Amino acid sequence: MHRWSRLFIPTLREAPSDAEVASHKFLLRSGYIRQLGAGIYNYLFLGQRSLNRIMAIIREEMDTIGQEFFLPALNPREIWEQSGRWSVMGENMFRLQDRKGADLCLAMTHEEIVTEIARRELRSYKQLPQIWYQIQTKFRDEPRPKSGLLRVRQFTMKDSYSFDLDAAGLDRSFDLHDQVYRRIFTRCGLRFVAVDADSGAMGGSQSQEFMVYTEAGEDLIASCPVCGYAANVEKASSRLDPVTEMEPTGDGLPELVSTPGLGAIADVARFFQISPASDIKCVAYMALHRSSTGTSDSWHAVAAFLRGDHQVNETKLMGLIGAAELRPMVAEELDQFLRAPAGFLGPVGLTPAAAPMIDGLTVVVDHSLTARRNMVAGANKLDYHLRNVTAGRDFQWTLAGDIRSVLEGEGCPCDGCSGRLVVGKAVEIGHIFKLGYKYTQSMSATVLDPNGKEVTPIMGSYGIGVERILTAAIEQSHDEAGFWLTPAIAPFHVVVTITNTSDAALLAAGESLAAELDRAGFDVLLDDRDERAGVKFKDAELIGIPYRITVGKKIADQQVELFTRSTSTSSVVALGDAVATLRPLVFTEYNNA
Ligand SMILES: [Zn+2]
Repeated sequence: MHRWSRLFIPTLREAPSDAEVASHKFLLRSGYIRQLGAGIYNYLFLGQRSLNRIMAIIREEMDTIGQEFFLPALNPREIWEQSGRWSVMGENMFRLQDRKGADLCLAMTHEEIVTEIARRELRSYKQLPQIWYQIQTKFRDEPRPKSGLLRVRQFTMKDSYSFDLDAAGLDRSFDLHDQVYRRIFTRCGLRFVAVDADSGAMGGSQSQEFMVYTEAGEDLIASCPVCGYAANVEKASSRLDPVTEMEPTGDGLPELVSTPGLGAIADVARFFQISPASDIKCVAYMALHRSSTGTSDSWHAVAAFLRGDHQVNETKLMGLIGAAELRPMVAEELDQFLRAPAGFLGPVGLTPAAAPMIDGLTVVVDHSLTARRNMVAGANKLDYHLRNVTAGRDFQWTLAGDIRSVLEGEGCPCDGCSGRLVVGKAVEIGHIFKLGYKYTQSMSATVLDPNGKEVTPIMGSYGIGVERILTAAIEQSHDEAGFWLTPAIAPFHVVVTITNTSDAALLAAGESLAAELDRAGFDVLLDDRDERAGVKFKDAELIGIPYRITVGKKIADQQVELFTRSTSTSSVVALGDAVATLRPLVFTEYNNA
């Protein structure tokens, strides 16, 4: 049992004005955290207590499939050079030098380190599969830290890594993580969805994110209410409704039309009296090709074409052409590579490079354009457009693919599903990847297979953001007065509030009830502070504790009040029944600790 009168729980009436999202406000107001610097936080008593409970759940579940390690955050440069990620990580990675001038970094993830252990220690297929995990502090030089614990520079992660002999083994390790992650998030009280995701800088094939829908989220998830399809918009696809093609004019060949000052899609569509879906949009980029050694990085010109009513999805585009970074072309580059000004760019007359990311211009066309006819496009000439532009006949491309972001209301991509996609904001709480051979190959880890032949093990990599679980839980479960956590991750199961501590009978009854609850296995916070009852109620509602038992005047009738924070409802309970009433509420199937 803890006595509030002796604890440091610095609650605040108001959140600092820079706190925008609910979790940030309430973590500060409830005294869970305090900021030390940009994206750097102190975790105080209640915050650390809740995080410890989250970590205990993660540990308990991960122990059913893996073995816990603890790997150093401080890593030598050489190990990151071997995978090529010393350069790939760019400015996101904290780097430092020791007194001898040797380069080190603060690790953001540990693929290199576990692969190094595997290559030294694993010799035979008999030692596979392996699943190694850790719960550890990670560092990331976030360019714009914000939103409290949602975008920070130091955080806690559960990361795990699997080594298997073959792809079927990796499938099993991936599925084991999928199941364990679902149990962890369920025990933490989260309403989550598992979605297809882009694997980004991690490399690899199959990738699944666990997301919690919240307005505070920075990811967009497209989902189908009919069949349950869900994917990050970085990855989501959709089925487009058929477009009615324009009738050709004149001889049906591209025709130059004067369009003075009409550079914007909307203006062009109005001028030609067409839907923006029949106007070709061009977005011109310089794309960075990163060599594995990082010594011969090079920038290449890319022109992306898509429907006027669509937006380029840069993650998809980078994946399609194999770029590490994109930036918009500046005017001189537009002149050099397309010989045209912004607003009047088009695909006709361009010479597409034979392959992406080589000298010349990589022309990428969204697959929604490749069968289209009689469209309007910029003429690569100031103040002119072309009409009657037909794909394949009038322009060619280096490659075609899905390079656009899906939009709400578009058709679900699943076979036979007639649902329409809904797009919502969400925050990522976990991510599982099939990494493949990227690290084991580049770092030369091998084992002997049953035939005595050297083979490269295949890897998976799996992460959970520990603080993300807490923030997502708060985002999901809060009101004006504060938030409530599920008992399994709350800093306390119950707060026993003595309305008036100067009343000796109340004080004695409260103390005795708190001790009884404590003996029964509850985590109890006894509010024995010399404060007005109203102040105590306000504080108790603020700090995330799911239940409150109020010891007040009704004690004369041997009664107390049980307040359920999630529903803000109270019921009167006989003092002698308090433990029995609370037990099934707190100790549910998943929380029997
Ligand atoms: Zn569907």
